[in-house]
Amino acid sequence: MKKIAELVALLNQYASAYYTEDQPLVSDAEYDRLYRELVALEEKYPEAVLPDSPTHRVGGRLLDGFEKYRHEYPLYSLQDAFSLEELKAFDQRVKREFPEAQYFCELKIDGLSISLTYDDGYLTVGATRGDGTTGENITENLRRVADIPLKLPEPISLTVRGECYMPRESFEKINQQRQEAGEAIFANPRNAAAGTLRQLDTAIVAQRGLATFLYQEASPSDVNRQSEVLEKLNALGFVTNPLHLKTSDIDDVWSFIKRVEEERHTLPYEIDGIVIKVDSLSMQEELGFTVKAPRWAVAYKFPAEEKEATLLSVDWTVGRTGVVTPTANLTPVQLAGTTVSRATLHNIDYISEKDIRIGDTVVVYKAGDIIPAVLHVVMRDRSDQTEMVVPANCPSCGGGLQHYEDEVALRCVNPLCPEQIKVRLAHFASRDAMNISGLGPSIVDKLYSADLVHDVADLYRLSLEDLLALPNFKEKSATKLLSAIEHSKDNSAERLLFGLGIRHVGSKASRLLLEKFGSIDQLALAEETEIAAIDGLGAVIAQSLKTYFATEGAQLLLSEFKEIGLNLAYKGFVASSDAPLSGRTIVLTGKLERLTRSEAKAKLEALGANVAGSVSKKTAIVVAGADAGSKLVKAQELGIDIKDEAWLEGL
Ligand code: NAD
Repeated sequence: MKKIAELVALLNQYASAYYTEDQPLVSDAEYDRLYRELVALEEKYPEAVLPDSPTHRVGGRLLDGFEKYRHEYPLYSLQDAFSLEELKAFDQRVKREFPEAQYFCELKIDGLSISLTYDDGYLTVGATRGDGTTGENITENLRRVADIPLKLPEPISLTVRGECYMPRESFEKINQQRQEAGEAIFANPRNAAAGTLRQLDTAIVAQRGLATFLYQEASPSDVNRQSEVLEKLNALGFVTNPLHLKTSDIDDVWSFIKRVEEERHTLPYEIDGIVIKVDSLSMQEELGFTVKAPRWAVAYKFPAEEKEATLLSVDWTVGRTGVVTPTANLTPVQLAGTTVSRATLHNIDYISEKDIRIGDTVVVYKAGDIIPAVLHVVMRDRSDQTEMVVPANCPSCGGGLQHYEDEVALRCVNPLCPEQIKVRLAHFASRDAMNISGLGPSIVDKLYSADLVHDVADLYRLSLEDLLALPNFKEKSATKLLSAIEHSKDNSAERLLFGLGIRHVGSKASRLLLEKFGSIDQLALAEETEIAAIDGLGAVIAQSLKTYFATEGAQLLLSEFKEIGLNLAYKGFVASSDAPLSGRTIVLTGKLERLTRSEAKAKLEALGANVAGSVSKKTAIVVAGADAGSKLVKAQELGIDIKDEAWLEGL
């Protein structure tokens, strides 16, 4: 059968890009559609099933670079279902054998499977699923995932399984940084998590904010039910997902699915469905496995959040580092609860690889809060659209654009490009940088257009007369702005360092750097190796800083800062071990009314607390604001101390 061979070849190509390179070529929905087509054909023509069919294999090939690890207990895939009918068929198959069976429903976390082995209470091996039998040994990387216990409270030996994922917040931040740096962005949090875990540099893993949910004990268990497995894992210090349902009725399962589907976008991580497992482990054992998946579980997959739209035009905009990014203007479509009429096209390599042209019908994709993206062209509708004309000149300054060989993006290399200068100024003034209130992009635009400001030092030379001469600028707001600018001179220097917008140097890295070197002057003199050795940083950041401080522009700027009287020293409070919250892990959730997130975090850290992103057994206190969601639920379940904003203010 030619069609079967074609589908097998195509699916294997897609699976390799997805599992091995972490760069999917098509959406999961498209992959699942082709996969089902293949399953149907193989059922009809069993004699034509090919030995390398993806329906008989789990996962993908293994990468070089990591040692292989043979799993003592194999890992499986899951059979999937896309409708209530398919769930009912699963229910009937189970109930035929066990009429009294109960189901335990869990969220299907969109990350990648990990297997953790502990010997006498110590983490000894962490591995990927690989092809189910053999995975990659990524122990050193998994040790850098903050919520994985390195030591259990009891000296026991066991192998547990779960999902390692990237929270939405980290994903968005990393992609933004990658875009600014002209690097390829990750297609979705799953690929970002997989790519991160296959990093050869463990320092990068530590920075990327990965997290886990554990759900299986692979070694023989001393409990009898899946629900008890979660309780046991929790008691051992693993993070388990608090949202689940136990029932024997498939209609209840369906209501749970519908409820979670509606609320999934409020979760801080991505899920792609619900896994329904037979709760009793002895029933599971009797039901057994097919070559690829257990017979006692099924994964209901949510319908894809993809729509077709027409690509009307493309806007090209310049960012802080000169990277020029394309945004598609589309015919409006309803997607994941919002109307989408603009979507990212990532970069020019993406456009040419996917052969995207103006006038094309394109598939637009949106996963949760993530910026919508154009996924691919629907070639069915391709007629006489001509290839896209890529700009040769910067849309802001008109200078020639560069497309470097090692970059996927176009870059404007003119340091005097107005748009770049404006974006840099707005970044300097932004909340996590110098926090100059009243100096947003529109005021920056006015200041720049009036020829008053060209670099960040110029901000400190502004006078009241200058501001009053600007259109629609009243005395009150002018005085306020000048005082905010003046006030910013005293900021602790990590804000200034972050505000400079040095490549790869984010706000967290800035803080770590100043904690170590004490001042920007000292940092400028530091050796690359000293910088790279800081836990959580690495060679890339070290090199970027050295390159920056070696430029004439940077040296000039530093001497101007000194002349103006800007503080270049780190004032951050080094919490002593007797600080009131010393050693306590605190999680912030929900909307705070009077404090910003950064202010709340800074306050807690100054009092010695460690502010974490997710709730686990290690969390001491959860500060919950308005509309707090799953973190609050989890804290309540774990019996964690819950405080409000007033408590925080009173500290
Ligand atoms: P799967 O979707 O069949 O599900 C199995 C996996 O679910 C497990 O290995 C586990 O990692 C995960 N999981 C998450 N939460 C879980 C929970 N609570 N309990 C148990 N397991 C849980 O995964 P698969 O076998 O890796 O891959 C198949 C899917 O991957 C396809 O259906 C497709 O959507 C996607 N895929 C996409 C492409 C592409 O090109 N876009 C290529 C290959 C595969």
